Amino acid sequence: DEVRVRRALLTVSDKRGIVDFARGLAELGVEIVSTGGTAQELRRAGLDVRAVEDYTGFPEILDGRVKTLNPRIHAGILAVRSDPAHAETLRQLGIEPIDLVCVNLYPFERVVARRGVSDREVIENIDIGGPTLIRAAAKNHAFCAVVVSPESYDAVLEELREQDGAISFRTREALAAEAFAYTARYEAAISRWFSGREEEFPQHATFAFEKVLDLAYGENPHQRAAYYAEVGTRSHLLSMVSKLHGRDLSFNNLLDLDSGRRVVEEFELPAAVIIKHNNPCGCAVAANLRDAFEKALECDPQSAFGGVYCFNRSVDAALAKRLHELFVELVFAPGYDDEALELLMRKPNVRILWNQERRRALAGEHDFKRVRGGILVQDRDSGLEPREQMRVVTTARPTEEQWGDLLFAMRVCKHVRSNAIVLARNGATVGIGAGQMSRVDSVRIALEKARIAGLDVAGAVMASDAFFPFPDGPELAMEAGVSAIIQPGGSQRDPEVIAACDRRGVPMVFTQRRHFKH
Ligand code: 5GP
Repeated sequence: DEVRVRRALLTVSDKRGIVDFARGLAELGVEIVSTGGTAQELRRAGLDVRAVEDYTGFPEILDGRVKTLNPRIHAGILAVRSDPAHAETLRQLGIEPIDLVCVNLYPFERVVARRGVSDREVIENIDIGGPTLIRAAAKNHAFCAVVVSPESYDAVLEELREQDGAISFRTREALAAEAFAYTARYEAAISRWFSGREEEFPQHATFAFEKVLDLAYGENPHQRAAYYAEVGTRSHLLSMVSKLHGRDLSFNNLLDLDSGRRVVEEFELPAAVIIKHNNPCGCAVAANLRDAFEKALECDPQSAFGGVYCFNRSVDAALAKRLHELFVELVFAPGYDDEALELLMRKPNVRILWNQERRRALAGEHDFKRVRGGILVQDRDSGLEPREQMRVVTTARPTEEQWGDLLFAMRVCKHVRSNAIVLARNGATVGIGAGQMSRVDSVRIALEKARIAGLDVAGAVMASDAFFPFPDGPELAMEAGVSAIIQPGGSQRDPEVIAACDRRGVPMVFTQRRHFKH
């Protein structure tokens, strides 16, 4: 089962740790074969290295496009040592077996992420020989070890030292598994780059994901779970987010965080949102964050218990003091004053996340929904249609103040599960109806929520994520005092709905774009 390592091929772009690894191998009597840049680095450190040209009898050509793509190399890696015919072939052709291959690839993803990078540079950074070496060695892990990450160097060396220069099957198999994951990821990043250039909805996209974080469990304790990020993405939910304090993030935390973060990203003004079960239970904008928070909390203080609190401005001591008085599951903000942090950290469990991402949501990002055996892929429902596209369909027209609230309500409404109804006044939600199977039920719930919270609906506006199929929803809302309505329009019964508003002199705006979120 053990393979004694006598010859190793080292060819790496990321040269971290390679000198120590090579030195360790050399000390165990392993012959080191290496390509141009890697050989140079090792020789500079005083190591004895055999050039790959010497091994193959063929020069590195075409500016390094062809270095290790050579039958001697691949036969040396791929030969089945236990097969007498293979052994005979190697002997006849004078091919020396290679027992360990250490490769990391041209940094394709790093190059792609560079500002102003040319297509030529990107293409040049598609490594060809490297993946071929890795795949060959991983395939033949019965006889050859493959090392693709500098993080593994120490463990591999240690095992070789302990076992007198040999490496076990179990280790080789684990290294092979890692190697194929590495080349698959690499290939996915290349494919992603190509599909990002297509104007149309991608035809050839492969969606690849890579584990970022193990989670204690999923939506429920009996479900195993982890967080994965899309390979090659410029930023993801946690990429620029640091956890400053608190318990481990849970599956449900991450779901709520994603929603909350998208809500506050809608606004230029200081904004606060509280998320529960993936729906906003209060959201507000104000001249300062503290006021936005108080207004958001007022909307539904009962549901806010144990919520995820997201902000688009730094948290100061006064706000932290208020948060400290509540049961808060998680706080997400672009910064915290020292005093604020000190206050919040007094509670051991509350998760405090610091958002250092300055980019808004990614343009062109796809949205996925899992279905049996597949995924539904769609463009993200990002942004709000411009006001010029909206039409006032009633005789009465909204005042400028109402316009402000209508647009605010619609921005929040986009993030509420359908059927979604949002009541808002003065830049704050006063009632939210989410996730009902009938729109009029969502209206009832939104009104009832406002009543329970002790908030006056008189003068509030109402947003609906899709058209009202009947006048009943608007009727109920107007009876309660709703003073303006915004909705996509497009129902067969639009004339009835418009007439109901006109009877009461309530202005209604059609946005002409639906915002279902299921
Ligand atoms: P070096 O710095 O040693 O000259 O080059 C190391 C890099 O070359 C590694 O990232 C390795 O994957 C890559 N490489 C090795 N053989 C070949 C080959 O035949 N063609 C290409 N394009 N890249 C290779």
